[in-house]
Amino acid sequence: KLYNQVQDLKGSIRVYCRVRPFLPGQSSFSSTIGSMQDDSIGINTASRHGKSLKSFSFNKVFGPSATQEEVFSDMQPLVRSVLDGYNVCIFAYGQTGSGKTYTMSGPRDITEKSQGVNYRALGDLFLLAEQRKDTFRYDIAVQMIEIYNEQVRDLLRVHFICFSFIFLNVFDTLEIRNSSQKGLSVPDASLVPVSSTCDVIDLMKLGHKNRAVGSTALNDRSSRSHSCLTVHVQGRDLTSGAVLRGCMHLVDLAGSERVDKSEVTGDRLKEAQHINKSLSALGDVIASLAHKNPHVPYRNSKLTQLLQDSLGGQAKTLMFVHISPEADAVGETISTLKFAERVA
Ligand code: ADP
Ligand code: MG
Repeated sequence: KLYNQVQDLKGSIRVYCRVRPFLPGQSSFSSTIGSMQDDSIGINTASRHGKSLKSFSFNKVFGPSATQEEVFSDMQPLVRSVLDGYNVCIFAYGQTGSGKTYTMSGPRDITEKSQGVNYRALGDLFLLAEQRKDTFRYDIAVQMIEIYNEQVRDLLRVHFICFSFIFLNVFDTLEIRNSSQKGLSVPDASLVPVSSTCDVIDLMKLGHKNRAVGSTALNDRSSRSHSCLTVHVQGRDLTSGAVLRGCMHLVDLAGSERVDKSEVTGDRLKEAQHINKSLSALGDVIASLAHKNPHVPYRNSKLTQLLQDSLGGQAKTLMFVHISPEADAVGETISTLKFAERVA
């Protein structure tokens, strides 16, 4: 059964959408969501011509009441295909505050029920590896890096915490290498073997602590960097001795909101320009793959260089866009949905 599901997903690009619920204290009467089906969503827009409903289609839509468990169980076959040697990329895209980190990691105080995709994916891989232990031996290791202003940093280095920011910039910019031989795009980033959910929880805590966080008016926990948890899997067939490799990138992208150039200057403006450039480079790559263009422009950003081996070909991609329901987010919501439409 699993084999069939994997075949269905072969070399695919899928686009999902998740709508965040209103947060405690927010009034829900001004929702922009006009209609919602299993695979489409309608957004209420108002212009001087009056009100209208703009509709967008997806492979799947998760409404405000969808649980973390429901979201993960839909992605489970995709995650599991890593153990069969496939490369997988899962991206969380959306404006700051739309729920990207909630989907990938969980809320600020994570409970077992609110754990996001990262924890559930690794937990599930351990479970499946255990079930297959009579026929396969799996080694699983993770890397966690972030891309900030087009520089790659290791999030799993303990000594990070005691360095000043100046030192961080000087010493810890890592190179992306052509990964065809070793299967590692960032060979100098810590590669940590993991074998239990506890290992993963500890590492994730370290990674989140190390992640560069800049406040915005919208969300003080928001991040101006892309963070990428990469799971490397090597499996050996115990009878034939054949070895297969797969890897999965779980990417919590930087906020996609456009900043008003008249309001930000200096570092904030530079960050915004880098984010803008890398998100459009990602959009260009996925759109080229989706439309089977002969030329795929991987080299235009660090993010797409990093993921080159895991985007296109036999690899499977899930672009998971996130939107906020509030009326005053409607501009960003429409631009997020247009991005999704472009890569579908
Ligand atoms: P982002 O990472 O896109 O900036 P967050 O994941 O930090 O957004 O979400 C913003 C806030 O909304 C957080 O307080 C988060 O816990 C909450 N939130 C997001 N999605 C959901 C959801 N599906 N259910 C409940 N709360 C959510
Ligand atoms: Mg976030």
